Amino acid sequence: MNPFESFRLMSPFGMRIDPINKVPKFHRGIDLVTTSSSGQLYAFVAGEVIHAKEGLKGSGFGDYGIVVAIKDDKGYLHCYAHLSMAMVQVGDKLLRGDKVGLQGSTGKSTGAHLHYEIRKACAPSFGYTDTEIGVVEPTKYLQDYYAKVGLSKVDIKDANAIIEKYLKPAWGAAKTPEEKKEIGRLADELRVASGQAKQNG
Ligand SMILES: [Zn+2]
Repeated sequence: MNPFESFRLMSPFGMRIDPINKVPKFHRGIDLVTTSSSGQLYAFVAGEVIHAKEGLKGSGFGDYGIVVAIKDDKGYLHCYAHLSMAMVQVGDKLLRGDKVGLQGSTGKSTGAHLHYEIRKACAPSFGYTDTEIGVVEPTKYLQDYYAKVGLSKVDIKDANAIIEKYLKPAWGAAKTPEEKKEIGRLADELRVASGQAKQNG
């Protein structure tokens, strides 16, 4: 299963010719371009937001532009870089599939894309290291992570069909606000499991 199936892969993780300096350099993350016209990006895993602004020089996020960094339950840090806008704040607790921000080209970047990087630690300097020692290969990490938490990805069409056919009529027929709320929560679970954003907060 490809965790990045709604993206075009621009540049993989690992050694590459740096697109700006034209010299071999270790690429700490993966470069992706979303296929959605909105440019909205969603959390690949749940976690707590610990950075959501322009990365300052020397902070561990210099040249990364606007960065949202999310700490997962294992203490790994998921970095969404070069955003045009962060849509979360420090302290927010996100679920997988929650909105993170808008794809952009801020910082040292040659065009609109998402640089997605997973660091093994959150401190110091948000876990930044000069070499590959501090990062992991994102595709493999997400595949292992999803397998462990037992989240089998639901097909978007199936999820939306269930919502349209069963949950929306049930919502319309619900007699109390609590029932409506519970149905909304179920619909959101299906949306998140199929890689979509929640709609009921
Ligand atoms: Zn990159």
